[in-house]
Amino acid sequence: MDIKSTILDPALSRIPEGDLADKWTNYKAHQKLVNPSNKRRLDIIIVGSGLAGASAAATLGEMGFNVKCFCIQDSARRAHSIAAQGGINAAKNYQNDGDSIYRLFYDTIKGGDYRAREANVYRLAEVSNNIIDQCVAAGVPFAREYGGTLANRSFGGAQVSRTFYAKGQTGQQLLLGCYSALMRQVNKGTVKMYTRHEMLDVVLVKDEQGVERARGIIVRDFVTGKIERYAAHAVVIGTGGYGNAYFLSTNAMSCNGSAAIQCYHKGAWFANPCYAQIHPTCIPVHGEIQSKLTLMSESLRNDGRIWVPKKLEDAKKLQKGEIKPTDIAEEDRDYYLERRYPAFGNLVPRDVASRAAKERCDKGFGVNATGLAVFLDFSDAIKRLGKDVVADKYGNLFQMYQKITDQNPYETPMMIYPAIHYTMGGIWVDYELQTSVKGLFAIGEANFSDHGANRLGASALMQGLADGYFVLPYTIQNYLADQIQVPRFSTDLPEFEEAEKALKSKIDRIMKVQGSRTVDSIHKELGHIMWEHVGMGRTKEGLTEALTLLKGIRETFWKEVYVPGTADTLNVELDKALRLLDFIEIGELMALDALNREESCGGHFREEHQTQEGEALRHDDDYSYVSCWKYTGENQTPDLLKEELNYKYIKVQTRNYKN
Ligand SMILES: Cc1cc2nc3c(=O)[nH]c(=O)nc-3n(C[C@H](O)[C@H](O)[C@H](O)COP(=O)(O)OP(=O)(O)OC[C@H]3O[C@@H](n4cnc5c(N)ncnc54)[C@H](O)[C@@H]3O)c2cc1C
Repeated sequence: MDIKSTILDPALSRIPEGDLADKWTNYKAHQKLVNPSNKRRLDIIIVGSGLAGASAAATLGEMGFNVKCFCIQDSARRAHSIAAQGGINAAKNYQNDGDSIYRLFYDTIKGGDYRAREANVYRLAEVSNNIIDQCVAAGVPFAREYGGTLANRSFGGAQVSRTFYAKGQTGQQLLLGCYSALMRQVNKGTVKMYTRHEMLDVVLVKDEQGVERARGIIVRDFVTGKIERYAAHAVVIGTGGYGNAYFLSTNAMSCNGSAAIQCYHKGAWFANPCYAQIHPTCIPVHGEIQSKLTLMSESLRNDGRIWVPKKLEDAKKLQKGEIKPTDIAEEDRDYYLERRYPAFGNLVPRDVASRAAKERCDKGFGVNATGLAVFLDFSDAIKRLGKDVVADKYGNLFQMYQKITDQNPYETPMMIYPAIHYTMGGIWVDYELQTSVKGLFAIGEANFSDHGANRLGASALMQGLADGYFVLPYTIQNYLADQIQVPRFSTDLPEFEEAEKALKSKIDRIMKVQGSRTVDSIHKELGHIMWEHVGMGRTKEGLTEALTLLKGIRETFWKEVYVPGTADTLNVELDKALRLLDFIEIGELMALDALNREESCGGHFREEHQTQEGEALRHDDDYSYVSCWKYTGENQTPDLLKEELNYKYIKVQTRNYKN
């Protein structure tokens, strides 16, 4: 495939000068500010009320800006962030076990397989400690030690304990903290909340110099079906990840990639789309009529040991239900992560653990009827710590597992298998979190920024809150300081008119198809293609085939989709159909990016590029860059812009979790 590619000017990343550890401090000292009376004259739209969006909206509202915050759910409190279980990282070093800002930075860059920007990641590690202080002040009930100090546990890819947690409900508790702050601003009138409103386009307006700037959005009110227009001086996208392109994932059902695609169509680059995270510890798929996968938190790998039988005959008997896991003697168990990666054991990063599980199952050692499961066993931990301690740490997760599988994990090992969980790719942003479109910012999982090719556990919450509480509130001022003379916008401008017209005609076209397939059935087919060809193991052949199949899915959609009802009222099928179209485009971008990246790194495993031991084989000379895809028109191959990654503060090496 012919792809037009160019190298990006490094200045576009807007990384401040100075030593790594001083960059953020210097930036803050020299950025432009907006004074209090001018803040009142500036409007900011924030799309999304997850941890990233809610923390940004609350903070910018508190600072005095006029904020309009949009979300799909009936309450900001129900954003997908609420599902986060295990914890949030910070370099507090409360355990005195050798942690530091540098070590968190280093672990994150290494965990991301040397495909993230140094300056951003260092800043993330730096502000991680502020997040914990902020959340404690907001009343987040983090777990504590007997003496009252905050407790920590370990997550993958780290040899220290730096993960703060609230049982297995960390996301929920953090979101309640953000939500309280947000509602305080709603009460004060600085934030207006628009729930059950979905953004369906971003509107750009040219300024006097002819520069296009994001000046508003078009949304659909779910309840009335009405299309509405909203204007602002800047637009912030905090709409989460696009893992549901695979249909089955651990993400909430409403997670989507539509806002990212709308921005992409308007000129924002889509970066590293192929980097999707496959989480090793999910409840295995149990049949064809399933729309959701359940995560068993990575925190469980602190005490749970992962194994499969050493002997194939034992595996076969387990698959047929002829023996129980407890029938297999200790010496006949293969704790394959401990065997292969002695230094990190069960706490290797997710990409490594997922591939190792797949490798065992592909060889026939899977432990359930489908052969696609491994054990996560707590019997040692229960012996060592006692059942009560284990229940204290993980009780709600055990209960959830039992409710879903009808098996008691205190008595028999859990069965787990990798599943799609998180997307490292997303909207390209510079150091200021601004996209390639002026006045359009992206935060949280929606942007591509800090995790490279693989995200370490407990670092998504850290990044979302870093962006929302501590980074965007500074950097957006640097942009808005030049906008104080710009009066409020009318939504009658022709640019709004055109965007609304285009959207209405797209909706019309969908409603007119009146085919025989439900949206979900087409989405499921898309998911099968993605998992099969753009999943855990990717090949040139498979990716090329995926691109052909995805073209077919798009044709199927336009010929066969059936959306009942009308567009001018509540219509859940229509909402899903609009998202599905964007998932198809995301699938194409993912496959194209994966095809272009002829190396294995992090979550992107090209089977042609592996070491003799089956580990990912990077090709730094050719691929040490961020892939930024630029939209060139409907059904056209996008252009590739390469942001080169230059590491000055760490030595780029092959990842090693063995010793
Ligand atoms: C089961 C599970 C457990 C996890 N556990 C952890 C953990 O322990 N630690 C960790 O660090 N990470 C964890 N993660 C990852 C983490 O939860 C997410 O990456 C993070 O919460 C994303 O936050 P966000 O604010 O970027 O997006 P989200 O929380 O996904 O919020 C997106 C927001 O955007 C809104 N939205 C979306 N599209 C539109 C639109 N078009 N118009 C209007 N609004 C829109 C939604 O309504 C929502 O308000 C977990 C993820 C899952 C799935």
